Amino acid sequence: MTTNTAEWAVRYTVELEDPGAHLLRVRLEIPRPDPAGQVLRLPTWIPGSYLIREFARHVQWLRAADAAGPLAVRRLDKASWALAPSAGPVTVELQVWAYDLSVRAAFFDQQRCYFNGTSLLPAVVGQEAAPCALRILAPSFAPAWRVATTLPRTTGERHGFGDFIAADYDELIDHPVEIADFVLLEFEAAGVPHEVALTGVFSLDEERLIADLTAICAHEIEFFGRPAPMDRYLFQVAVVGDGYGGLEHRSSTSLVCGRDSLPTPGMKGTPEAYRAFLGLCSHEYFHTWNVKRIKPAAFLPYDLTREAHTELLWAFEGLTSYYDDLILVRSGVIDEASYLDLLARTLTGVLRTPGRKVQPVVEASFDAWTRYYRQDENSPNALISYYTKGALVGLTLDLHLRVHSGGAVSLDDLMLRLWERHGRPLIGVPEDGVEAILRELGGEGLQPLLDLCLRSTDELPLEPLLAAVGVELRLRAQEGADDKGGTAGGGSSKAPTGWLGATLGGDGKVKHALVGGPAARAGLSAGDQVIALDGLRCGGELSKRISKMQPGERCTLHAFRRDELLELQLEVGAPPVDTAYLRVAPHVAPEAEALRVAWLRGPVGAA
Ligand SMILES: [Zn+2]
Repeated sequence: MTTNTAEWAVRYTVELEDPGAHLLRVRLEIPRPDPAGQVLRLPTWIPGSYLIREFARHVQWLRAADAAGPLAVRRLDKASWALAPSAGPVTVELQVWAYDLSVRAAFFDQQRCYFNGTSLLPAVVGQEAAPCALRILAPSFAPAWRVATTLPRTTGERHGFGDFIAADYDELIDHPVEIADFVLLEFEAAGVPHEVALTGVFSLDEERLIADLTAICAHEIEFFGRPAPMDRYLFQVAVVGDGYGGLEHRSSTSLVCGRDSLPTPGMKGTPEAYRAFLGLCSHEYFHTWNVKRIKPAAFLPYDLTREAHTELLWAFEGLTSYYDDLILVRSGVIDEASYLDLLARTLTGVLRTPGRKVQPVVEASFDAWTRYYRQDENSPNALISYYTKGALVGLTLDLHLRVHSGGAVSLDDLMLRLWERHGRPLIGVPEDGVEAILRELGGEGLQPLLDLCLRSTDELPLEPLLAAVGVELRLRAQEGADDKGGTAGGGSSKAPTGWLGATLGGDGKVKHALVGGPAARAGLSAGDQVIALDGLRCGGELSKRISKMQPGERCTLHAFRRDELLELQLEVGAPPVDTAYLRVAPHVAPEAEALRVAWLRGPVGAA
């Protein structure tokens, strides 16, 4: 079967050419090319991941022909090709190397093939608004493989190979494709059919995962209100030994997770790794509304040739990060204590980042492309994450609105207004748009708090706001490398007495020296390899040994910088009190109790 050429301006055919060499072959049929010479262009970045990735660098070759024979192809820039003028239909072939296991590009080996259109399918410049067809050919070497994508299908069985259609190029590249012998789970949430396609080697309690995802997805649909903006949804999950990541799309998400983060048969409770995986699912699903439809004006349309700067990533990523865990407790997937634990860990992460005193969150948003996505040894000293700080800004604003309105308004109202005014009608959010709605909700008097949260590096007023909803915020020193906060800790017997102020690898190599910390003051820098403390070999044990010393104690360090030996004098510091934990206060006034219950239950409540 073929689709009628009248229905599409370009048809792409993807052939799984060579799994050992990780090569995919793509063919374009262009019935009506630009007679002056058709230009083809691959995106330089993929929406949702704010880094110039220059996908065209993995194109091994590209050739073109028309009825008369081969057409000359000329490179215009790093992402574009110009074909020689031709009056009639043109075909183009390209070969792409696909061996990136992340969710942002393409991957092909003997176990699976996964691709985003941004890596494989060049836009036919000038015809991006026209419908495009995609044909995926079945590979002869893997008869069991099936196809999982939410791209609308025109031929072939469900999950079979065949033909797909997209209304325009923007839609074509927003439905990643998983091709493998995957495990398929199906469930319905709030009337919408959902699928989970898992690849990799793993053991899984399918019923548990389905129950938890159903609760999360149903809750998010009810939160924004029916009808859901998508008529079906797909989770593509690549399970690996060690990995974590996700990328949102309009009706699907691609995730990479470690196999220990899935629920196993007979598992008790909700272990930390599984809780994090559910948080990731909740996060990407929330993006179905917040960033895939409620979009910054800077993304409408996406300019995929260059960076699309916006100061609003704190709202699109930070508020999504605030809601991802909040929805776990609101949907009943985790309990209140577990939620407070997650919140305290987020707070701990921010408190341990000296860059929070340097970079306001709107600047972190704007510079995502060159800073957050391109971190180096100085990043902890200079940057703050718009995910974690943005989530805490969300918490601050949510609690402020609730406390100052006696529970009448909250951040939920912000999300619903954004959805009604910008998401449903697909009208971009201007750079001041989020704050404008917040001022509607909280009054003009909210502006100083907005300025503090977004444009200053002052500490957020979380302690009094949490107290007003009956939650105590406590701080203590870190107890060991695995201590991420969230619990009260082991008390004085476990507490460290000394502090180095640097992170080291197992080989003693300094990863980061925190600004103003004892290591930095001693002259230690990222990249230095520490070999001895007071004449005794220490390597990666340095932090542990310093943690048992007393503040003010002096010692001698030996380290190599490149191949030169340094001798440094270090004065041991006192451990910073940067580890947060939260708990419900023993005596809570009824008003505070009511506010906390409303906050954690949400407008929809547990299913
Ligand atoms: Zn996100």
